Amino acid sequence: MADSITIFLDKCTGCTLCVKACPFGAIHMANKKAVIDMAACTLCGACVETCKFRAIELKKDTGGKKDLSKYKDVWVFCEQKKGVIQSISFELLGEGRKLADKLGVKLCAVILGSGIESKIDELAERGADKIYISDHPALEFYQDDPYTEVFVRLVQEYAPEVILCGATTIGRSLISRVAVKVNAGLTADCTGLDIDKKERILLQTRPAFGGNIMATIVTPNHRPQMATVRHKVMKEAAIDKSHKAEVIRKSYPEEALKSRTRLIDIVAEIEENVNLAEADIIVSGGRGLGGPEHFAIIRELAKALNAAVGASRAAVDSDWIPYSHQVGQTGKTVCPKLYIACGISGQIQHLIGMQSSKVIVAINKDPDAPIFKVATYGIVGDIFDIVPALTKEFQRVLNKV
Ligand SMILES: Cc1cc2nc3c(=O)[nH]c(=O)nc-3n(C[C@H](O)[C@H](O)[C@H](O)COP(=O)(O)OP(=O)(O)OC[C@H]3O[C@@H](n4cnc5c(N)ncnc54)[C@H](O)[C@@H]3O)c2cc1C
Repeated sequence: MADSITIFLDKCTGCTLCVKACPFGAIHMANKKAVIDMAACTLCGACVETCKFRAIELKKDTGGKKDLSKYKDVWVFCEQKKGVIQSISFELLGEGRKLADKLGVKLCAVILGSGIESKIDELAERGADKIYISDHPALEFYQDDPYTEVFVRLVQEYAPEVILCGATTIGRSLISRVAVKVNAGLTADCTGLDIDKKERILLQTRPAFGGNIMATIVTPNHRPQMATVRHKVMKEAAIDKSHKAEVIRKSYPEEALKSRTRLIDIVAEIEENVNLAEADIIVSGGRGLGGPEHFAIIRELAKALNAAVGASRAAVDSDWIPYSHQVGQTGKTVCPKLYIACGISGQIQHLIGMQSSKVIVAINKDPDAPIFKVATYGIVGDIFDIVPALTKEFQRVLNKV
């Protein structure tokens, strides 16, 4: 049964309450009766609750009596680049272990690539009880089509209860495709996970409405329960050299490994300092810098602190610094121990990408800049005075001169 919404015209009094209640502007009046524009309606149900006359009925496909008992185990997609397992995978294995223990199931690692047999021990030592591995030259580099197809086939064959994936560029691209193909929901960018033991449900917590509230999302009627998790939020699984895993090697026919896109080249980015997503400290510059040449003061401070350099979109859009440094809604989500925002106003789209940083220091000459609302420490003043002074002091304290 598909989801549906119906207006009972005999009950509709034309009161227009539902028109006002609809957050998507999907209801209008015609001949004093409510009419729903199905292209705009998201079936959120806001109108149903408002209608005093019970003239609107929403039927949701709850999955009926779908048998969920065949789904078991917690899976972690272990991202590798050039054969190096990315640290987010170890974070997910650490968190996955807790979830698997609460559910009383196995923790499984899924790794795709070429020449990756040697990675098995590494994943076992990080706590994986079972490792699904598909090793083929077509899987050497991440590509949407073959990775999705192989992952979907694994899910269909082994039916995991929970799938965790890093909220990385690759993770986001892959797992959304997998979710659609296996008809499951997906909660993106989680910062907290837990299990409701009684219902065997994954509690997926993530910031919502620009970080103003934390929403906990559940998927009671569908399996697998799928979530992407932000980098650096969870603790890495400890290494236990004695831990062994069962290994399931899977190979697939050529048709499953086909790609509609062709990888021509991978251009390594020249990172002068530290990788943004991995960094414990980030110094970011915004439009307040006034020009590309002034990023020099940001780089100097970053160098003194062994930090990565970030930027606001305004700085990136002005071509002062490459896009790979952009922090925010359409850039990277970061969660360092220390984030220093220099000449950044703190618009919501920037905050979304950095507000879960442990300590935020904001330097801005405008005392009313919104960045100060999220800052742990605020310095009201000119970045051209303050940033070089901080650099000098850090260099002195950290014995770098
Ligand atoms: C769909 C969408 C997605 C977006 N995604 C992102 C994103 O991913 N990341 C992002 O950052 N933005 C994003 N934006 C843009 C965002 O709305 C802001 O425009 C942007 O963050 C502003 O950058 P800024 O703070 O550097 O510039 P401004 O808002 O212009 O702020 C500059 C600040 O510098 C201060 N300043 C100026 N001179 C000095 C000085 N000498 N000393 C101290 N302070 C000084 C000013 O007081 C001001 O507060 C997005 C917008 C949209 C619509």
